[in-house]
Amino acid sequence: MANRAYNFNAGPAALPLDVLQKVQGQFVEFENSGMSLMEMSHRGAIYEKVHFETESLLRELLSIPEGYKVLFLQGGASTQFAMIPMNLLRPGATASFVATGSWATKAIQEAKLFGETAIAASSESDSYKRIPSIGELNYAPDSAYLHITSNETIEGTQWSEFPDTGNVPLIGDMSSDILCRPIDVSKFAVIYAGAQKNLGPSGVTIVIIREELVAKPSTTVPTMLRYDTHAKNDSLYNTPPTFAIYMMGEVLKWIKSNGGAAGMEAINREKAALLYDTIDGSNGFYKGFAELGSRSLMNVTFTMQSKELEAQFIKESEAQGFVGLKGHRSVGGLRASIYNAVPLESVRALADFMRDFQNRNAQ
Ligand SMILES: *Cc1c(COP(=O)(O)O)cnc(C)c1O
Repeated sequence: MANRAYNFNAGPAALPLDVLQKVQGQFVEFENSGMSLMEMSHRGAIYEKVHFETESLLRELLSIPEGYKVLFLQGGASTQFAMIPMNLLRPGATASFVATGSWATKAIQEAKLFGETAIAASSESDSYKRIPSIGELNYAPDSAYLHITSNETIEGTQWSEFPDTGNVPLIGDMSSDILCRPIDVSKFAVIYAGAQKNLGPSGVTIVIIREELVAKPSTTVPTMLRYDTHAKNDSLYNTPPTFAIYMMGEVLKWIKSNGGAAGMEAINREKAALLYDTIDGSNGFYKGFAELGSRSLMNVTFTMQSKELEAQFIKESEAQGFVGLKGHRSVGGLRASIYNAVPLESVRALADFMRDFQNRNAQ
């Protein structure tokens, strides 16, 4: 396809071209059924096969151990900010959080609607330019859970290792870095992620949850907001977002054929290095926002000497086919989101553009 943009959108974000084309080919008629997958019952054999195949691919690619439920929910990761305390924060208990940036803050604010919260560590005084070290974490051993945000999409910071929290359930919002690298799922009690950054289109949110946490009753929680409702019914209690789940399955097949989580990590490191090396080699023309040890593989955030120069960068980059490079309004500057499906060629083109722009504009 000749005129495909260099897509650095933060989410929804780039999808693999191979997947888009395959889905297009299957869209009007799915597997000789005389109809689109979008037109058939979620209780029928054809959809059920897609549904369970997607779940098993996710289990395989993330190496999810026995004892976890995998749920496909709606409402985005933002609904999980509420569902988690609704289901897992008992009266009198405290939920602990690591305050790493914009998304962690939203999770904390929502949990406050349901119970007590505490901050185990915060990098707010450093403008959220870094992820606190594991040694800085300080939370009560009877915390209901410890919540972390594995990748702060807006600030461009990412945890490089995860704490061992013992008896305190560890909960991870992995919306913007799920499957960007292998992780040890067994460290977590709950992992959740909206699909639209690294796994597929918007409309489905995955929740990976330890079975014993599902089993605990939570009688005042509305049926649709209870984990046990969805766990007991294999995410088919009500109509699931069939198209989003189907497409996520196709993205997972693409990830598998490209080396799985380890394959993604290798290419993601190569992509991230292209941009960070360009920033670091620019003699201060570009300044990385995140501290070195906290840099994200997924969202590369940087600033320039002036707002005017940043605006000019955006304008010129757009004219050359680059999309989505403006930083989030809360942080400013620039951001290149380089999720799994962003091709290496797009990142090479951006690094070239950055060097060229510097050559033309540095004093
Ligand atoms: C995008 C994002 C969210 C919000 O996701 P929605 O699906 O839009 O609710 C939450 N957390 C992180 C880390 C994100 O990147």
